[in-house]
Amino acid sequence: MKPILKSAKLANVCYDIRGPVMQRARQLEEEGHRILKLNIGNLAPFGFEAPDEVRQDVIKNLGEASGYSDSKGMFAARKAIMHYCQQKQIQGVTLDDIIVGNGVSELIVMSMQGLLNNGDEVLLPAPDYPLWTAAVSISGGRPRHYLCDEQSDWYPDLDHMRSLINEKTKAMVIINPNNPTGALYPESVLREIIQIAREHQLIIFADEIYDKVLYDGAEHTSIASLADDVLFITMNGLSKNYRACGYRAGWMVISGDKRHATDYIDGLGIMASMRLCANVPGQFAIQTSLGGYQSINDLVGPNGRLTRQRNLAYDMMTSIPGVSCVKPKAALYLFPKLDAKLYPIENDQKFILELLEAQKVLVVQGTGFNWPTPDHFRVVFLPNTDDLTDAMGRIARFLETYRKK
Ligand code: PLP
Repeated sequence: MKPILKSAKLANVCYDIRGPVMQRARQLEEEGHRILKLNIGNLAPFGFEAPDEVRQDVIKNLGEASGYSDSKGMFAARKAIMHYCQQKQIQGVTLDDIIVGNGVSELIVMSMQGLLNNGDEVLLPAPDYPLWTAAVSISGGRPRHYLCDEQSDWYPDLDHMRSLINEKTKAMVIINPNNPTGALYPESVLREIIQIAREHQLIIFADEIYDKVLYDGAEHTSIASLADDVLFITMNGLSKNYRACGYRAGWMVISGDKRHATDYIDGLGIMASMRLCANVPGQFAIQTSLGGYQSINDLVGPNGRLTRQRNLAYDMMTSIPGVSCVKPKAALYLFPKLDAKLYPIENDQKFILELLEAQKVLVVQGTGFNWPTPDHFRVVFLPNTDDLTDAMGRIARFLETYRKK
């Protein structure tokens, strides 16, 4: 029998967040070990539930949710998204410019498949949320990673970004607020990014799924609100801001200079029709979420649960010798750096596997986010303060033995 192989298009697709180390963790759990999971930004298992009014609304509407909706999304959901765009000062968005999807994940893949021909290039951040890189690869494109600079609060290195552009470059992706670094880009940086896109006629894809998970009173600016002469595709959804990962409700908004992009926009419509529609119960949650009480603000306020957990994780992590970290201004993650002299790591997947085996703590290696060197890892600060304290203590003990090796 000939072996049945996966498509060659999957050759460069990696998604280490749910990769082999996670499988080992599952095995350990089956053997009866308790694993402290600091690996996935899934809020509900840590007691962060979707707002009650949203859950009730979905339950109430379930009876009406048996049919397909419009391929681009339900009218009420898209109206609410349109209104949200107005609040974020994204100009000129009509109902037709909004496509609702089964989470942002589906839309990331759809937007790349609808755009790229083989060999087309897309600029992506390093580190990145790896689905973006995977989506470019599976669509036949070539991911080109521009470095983000840890010395400058993890802002994009704009010179590096410019140096990667050639005649095959079609688009750039920015993730703001950023996963995994927790960076939040100021308007000045966003304007410089727009200038690069303008000069080279690139589409800007902006993943803004954490735009309400902001600490210390920070504010978020949508890059699409800053210009109308560049094409923007802005992605957002309910997963993080409304703790509703399982509802699979996300959207993309097309704005800016749409005149030259009618063919691509048409392609996005075709992609939306091909999958008929996004799940309808999830769509019912959108209007109530966007229009209701914004309980995320309680969680990220000065004494909010997420703020307290971020502070605790950051303080404990940075008190470990040879570990430094930019304090996240947003999102749910720390992306600490390990001093290469104290921790001469060659393979960071092996490193986090050793951490898992020795201390039963699960994190994700930095290279899983397309970071080029094996000297970072990502920690999710969703567990409660007792579990976080326990996990940070275990990481500290593991690193102590690693130093002494
Ligand atoms: N974009 C970023 C930056 C994320 O961190 C995530 C999930 O962690 C997603 C997109 C996927 O979101 P969704 O649940 O809407 O598919």
